[in-house]
Amino acid sequence: MAKLKLRFFPDPVLKKKAKKITTFDRSVRKLAQDMLDTMYVEDGVGLAAPQVGVSKRMMVIDVHAGTDEDPARPIVFINPEIVEAEGEMVGQEGCLSFPGVFFEVKRASKIVVKFQNLEGKEMRLECEDNLLCRAIQHEMDHLNGDLFVDKAASAIQRDLEMTKNGLMQGDLEELEQKYLAEGGTLKVRSRSSVEVSN
Ligand SMILES: [Zn+2]
Repeated sequence: MAKLKLRFFPDPVLKKKAKKITTFDRSVRKLAQDMLDTMYVEDGVGLAAPQVGVSKRMMVIDVHAGTDEDPARPIVFINPEIVEAEGEMVGQEGCLSFPGVFFEVKRASKIVVKFQNLEGKEMRLECEDNLLCRAIQHEMDHLNGDLFVDKAASAIQRDLEMTKNGLMQGDLEELEQKYLAEGGTLKVRSRSSVEVSN
């Protein structure tokens, strides 16, 4: 097992559009396995290749990671494409490249995704209203150099979380007041079950 080094915001590799994978050889299988090893060790439910410094269109997801529903059920997505998206859902999101930061992000509630598996075979997956649906959209953004901080449902909640975790300069007290004023709830700093990182 090989654990790869995570890249954290503001590492420039996170803003790059990743390249398509065209050969399905041993090195691709090794990257997938190393990414899964890294994701499990880091307690994430998803990981995209740019997050380990590899600008290629591969991402791994296991929404059962860290739950009682073991054994692991990983999915490796190569060259994924969302072919249908509809509806809307808002929910808490985290990212392994932004340790400790969690805020609400709006996503499509139903998607159909096309991708290739490790053998290069075309696959199709449909999901609706669940963590898998959210994780796929989050990881696909990574492949395009897009980050969840640009998709926050509330810019104030995001700034508050970024400031709290030392990723942004800001007046914490003022942000808390503003967030309460817009109807937000300040949370106690303990990891809740809805806080999973992608
Ligand atoms: Zn992420």
